[in-house]
Amino acid sequence: MRNKIVIVPLGEIDYILVNRLASSLASFFNFNLEILQGLELPKEAYNEKRGQFYSTVILSKLELLKSDDHERILGITEEDLYVPTLNFVLGEADPESKVAIISLFNLKQDYSSIMASEPVYFDRIFKEAVHELGHTMNLHHCPNPKCVMYFSQTIDDTDRKGKRFCDNCQRHITLV
Ligand SMILES: [Zn+2]
Repeated sequence: MRNKIVIVPLGEIDYILVNRLASSLASFFNFNLEILQGLELPKEAYNEKRGQFYSTVILSKLELLKSDDHERILGITEEDLYVPTLNFVLGEADPESKVAIISLFNLKQDYSSIMASEPVYFDRIFKEAVHELGHTMNLHHCPNPKCVMYFSQTIDDTDRKGKRFCDNCQRHITLV
């Protein structure tokens, strides 16, 4: 059975972008790709004090959509995500359930609030999607700053890293 990535748009989102991401990921991984109908973000994931959504709570909801073990779920949202130990996260993945999510919120602009050009914005989205999906293939953070598995603490880290897995990460990809 062929591996599959199922993209789940969450909340209001640019569907042209979602489609473009889907076809880029399909050719990068050589997996089947499906885009599910958009869903609302789970209300219980929203933290009113922080004005952000708790990504781990969303992951547990996305896991329920999985139909078999060859599937990887990738949620995508324009909302700001967090985990309690960090101010924000660009994404999160659960390697066990092979479910991941990315947020576009912090990818649109840099820290001086300059909006990214369209190609830069799309590259960031692609890299963060590949990064989180990499975690669902048993990859950990990589010390190579050019590798897509390098942990981005800032958007500059994302811009500096490449779109691919380094040779070492490539060797450690586990699909089942
Ligand atoms: Zn690497």
